[in-house]
Amino acid sequence: MTALTPQGVVADLVHAQHWVAGAPDAALSGATRPVTDPATGSTTGDFTVGTAAVVDRSVRAAAEAGPGWWDLGAEARGQLLGQVASRLTVAAPQLAALESREMGKPVAMAQQDIEGSIEMFRATAESAATFFAPAARGAGRTACRPYGVVALITPWNYPVCQVTDILAGLLAAGNTVVVKPSEKAPLSVAALGPLLDILPPGVVNIVLGDGEVGAALVEHPLIGLVHFTGSVATGRKVGGAAGARLIPCFLELGGKDALVIDRDVDVAKAAALAASGGWMNTGQVCTSIERVYVHRDIADEFVSALIHESASWPIGSGLNPDTRLGPLVDARQRDSVHQHVTEARLGGAEVPIGGEPLPGPGFFYPATVVVGAPDDSRIMTEETFGPVIAVRIVNSFEEGLRLADTGAYGLCAAALTNDPAHIELAAALDAGAVTINGGGDGPADAPFEPARSSGMGRVFWGPRSLESFTRPYAVSIGGKA
Ligand code: NAD
Repeated sequence: MTALTPQGVVADLVHAQHWVAGAPDAALSGATRPVTDPATGSTTGDFTVGTAAVVDRSVRAAAEAGPGWWDLGAEARGQLLGQVASRLTVAAPQLAALESREMGKPVAMAQQDIEGSIEMFRATAESAATFFAPAARGAGRTACRPYGVVALITPWNYPVCQVTDILAGLLAAGNTVVVKPSEKAPLSVAALGPLLDILPPGVVNIVLGDGEVGAALVEHPLIGLVHFTGSVATGRKVGGAAGARLIPCFLELGGKDALVIDRDVDVAKAAALAASGGWMNTGQVCTSIERVYVHRDIADEFVSALIHESASWPIGSGLNPDTRLGPLVDARQRDSVHQHVTEARLGGAEVPIGGEPLPGPGFFYPATVVVGAPDDSRIMTEETFGPVIAVRIVNSFEEGLRLADTGAYGLCAAALTNDPAHIELAAALDAGAVTINGGGDGPADAPFEPARSSGMGRVFWGPRSLESFTRPYAVSIGGKA
């Protein structure tokens, strides 16, 4: 049976299907593929794997729904999306439980994240009418229109939020959408289908499958915009395919975020911040703190405080309310994380806490600290995507800033310092978002564009995302013809 209804029923074993033109669709699909609970190694459910025919049917359904969705008008679109937000709110606890069963995260955290995303979904829906309100009608104006059918391709680390964060803006702007979630965690996204059935058929379609299905979607001739979140390697392929078709493409890719710590900070507070930045979601966050550059004067104290912090990160199933550190998503991810740590050790680094996978069942890896890995080792240069904080001792705050700005990634960066001159230096870190001293009431609607290989395309979140998801055009009207 379907995983979730608006009343919130989760089946024990979940069988997920595509959602096409407003209904579940198992036709034209390939084989089914299992989804494993990473905490137990047992099967959570399965999903039907899409084919080129399913992709084509979904894109055509979205293209047919497009004109009607646009003609409905911004206010009506916003109202319908507001109703979707209410349904999502009711379903949030079940969606969170399903996320945990397919990719391992603690349920309470999943629910909090989903609820936050729904809040933004609702605010975005409410902004549609204002965004499209007619501007002063002069002889010249800028108008905007939707891109048409959008391919929304998402990763597994925040399965629901990666869709709901983006979907409201795309739809409020008048686009129609084909969603392609990750094959590693497709069940909670597939469960969104029945919750969306108050939208006209075809406005949102969900196609399940792996990279082959994603590639077929990007290459479909009726796709007008691609929004991709995932790894740099896949982002290059997606960006290349979109470029070849001359369609715009947003790429939200990986990170190797650095935290630079000055000599004058509260060390216990710095360690707590580094721990939650590095270990949250078992380090499977694009904006995880993976590198820490700490001033030599406080380095020993900082490492001790980090080891102390690790005790407050109990490891276990995400369904256990005490768990803060769930499993990694699968055996491959666990082995890849361990490979980074092993190579660092061989390169001379110390691992004062963690650093060994836990015996099964499940794919658990403990909170880990690595000190003194070579600057060119993979743990310092490639995305690890696990609960590992690599600490590098520096002789000055400036040296830390310089090292933070090296490497392929520039998603986010952070610094801790009480020196006003150093705050200004840190503000120039080369990243999509820079957070100093834990941040404050920053501009919530600021645009964001990742630096270096971490992505492409200026994106606004929430209500202002309609600016990203519409194509502006200029109208100028002359005198009497
Ligand atoms: P991934 O690149 O392996 O897959 C992402 C999605 O792309 C999946 O749905 C996958 O099936 C699909 N895909 C694979 N090959 C494709 C192709 N050739 N054409 C089209 N689609 C294709 O990434 P992942 O392992 O699912 O996710 C982890 C990565 O995502 C990490 O690098 C992480 O940093 C990144 N991420 C970035 C952000 C951000 O906002 N910048 C947020 C979350 C995750």
